Amino acid sequence: MPQVPQKATGTTAVYGSYVLVREEGLPVVKRDQWVVIEGDRIAAVSASRPASADHVLDRPGRFILPGLLNLHNHCFSEAVARTHAEDGGGRKNSQSVVYSVLLPLTKSGIDILTPEERMAIGRLGILQLLKGGATTVMEPFRNGIPEMFDAALEMGLRFYGAPYLFSSANPKADAKGVVQYDVADASGSDSERDLATWNTIHGKWHGLDGGRIQVTMSPHATDTCDPDLLRAAHARARELGVQVTTHLAQSVREVEVIGQRYDGRTPAEYLDWLGLLGPDLLAAHCIACSDTDLDLMAKRDMTVLNCPRVFARTGKTAAFSRFAEKGIRTVVGTDGYNMDLLGEINAAAMISKIVSGDATVASSPTMIDAVTAQAAAAIKRPDLGEIRPGATADLTIVDMTHPHLQPLFDPMKALVALANRANIDSVIVDGRVLVENGGYTLGDEAAITAAGSAAIARIWDLPEARAAFAS
Ligand SMILES: [Zn+2]
Repeated sequence: MPQVPQKATGTTAVYGSYVLVREEGLPVVKRDQWVVIEGDRIAAVSASRPASADHVLDRPGRFILPGLLNLHNHCFSEAVARTHAEDGGGRKNSQSVVYSVLLPLTKSGIDILTPEERMAIGRLGILQLLKGGATTVMEPFRNGIPEMFDAALEMGLRFYGAPYLFSSANPKADAKGVVQYDVADASGSDSERDLATWNTIHGKWHGLDGGRIQVTMSPHATDTCDPDLLRAAHARARELGVQVTTHLAQSVREVEVIGQRYDGRTPAEYLDWLGLLGPDLLAAHCIACSDTDLDLMAKRDMTVLNCPRVFARTGKTAAFSRFAEKGIRTVVGTDGYNMDLLGEINAAAMISKIVSGDATVASSPTMIDAVTAQAAAAIKRPDLGEIRPGATADLTIVDMTHPHLQPLFDPMKALVALANRANIDSVIVDGRVLVENGGYTLGDEAAITAAGSAAIARIWDLPEARAAFAS
């Protein structure tokens, strides 16, 4: 087992020129406050400096936010495929690269890399996430990379790991772009094997380090999971009280495939038919959902994970405002692109304004809420989305003294419109200061980056990896 960082002890006092609190349910910026942490809890928010503290973060111009939550992210496959899918790379006949390239590539990584090499890629991904300001991440990944849990445990990130379940051991698109399910043999079906693997992973990691490590149920998508698997996964999740995350209506092709397989149902109707569309479901993308689907999804009180940039690269994407205006709880994640959550909420706001033709939609407070209070509500941890006495001490602190942020008239608008990951000053999870002054505190950043890059290079040595991206 990896080393778990020491529990936070004593008192940490953090000075914020600006502190985001909530008043009457809305985010409000208070000036010149001290946030006092005792152990893993926020003890006080006060205008007066505490008489004593074991650790003091006192620098001017800092904006203290509740820790940012990135609830849809793939840091392993993103690191492996980095820059290869840009400018249409790997895209055959304008098809998505998910089934033709990304899933097979990650499978190659699982087949040829050692556990230590996979751990090195996991560490690189998590370092990137922490330096990007995330305190909580929901991360779906192939179930052959349990090292992701070890890396998260060691590095202090709050981690909702979501090992995939598929109805096919090796999901790959056929010539028509369709993923076929495997047929059960004497030893059972791939669905059953994946659910068994998920249960083993849940038993080993769920709840470690005082609940910081969580295991989320993660049937991969509507077109890779058959009805029996979806029903079984949902039933098991309900039994354990864990949430379900999946990919929904990622493409027009997926809508066609589900319609053909299941009596004309849309992907959202398919999930609803099986009982999955509800408050415990977090569904990524939903790009090809119809307006009728969105009405149904709003009624079922589920959460949409809007990740606009990964799709924007392909020339089409979904606007945050399209879902939010229907009354659906909508949060923002980075999926397999860049993992700069501040950059992502900026893009989500911009794309919403372009698509709606209205500058007032997706306002700065709305976008900040989407990655703090709304996201915390989506995982039923409201204490993670708010700075108040008694809440868990997860904080993201942004340095607003940079020249592109000064003079500073409106901190929330500056954060969404102008700031980016390079402005992250400190990241605190469970009271542990994991990033301070922009640097990771628990390890050697250069060594983590070099080891992760070397492991990824081994995948790119495979002829099939290079062939997938040959033009
Ligand atoms: Zn995804």
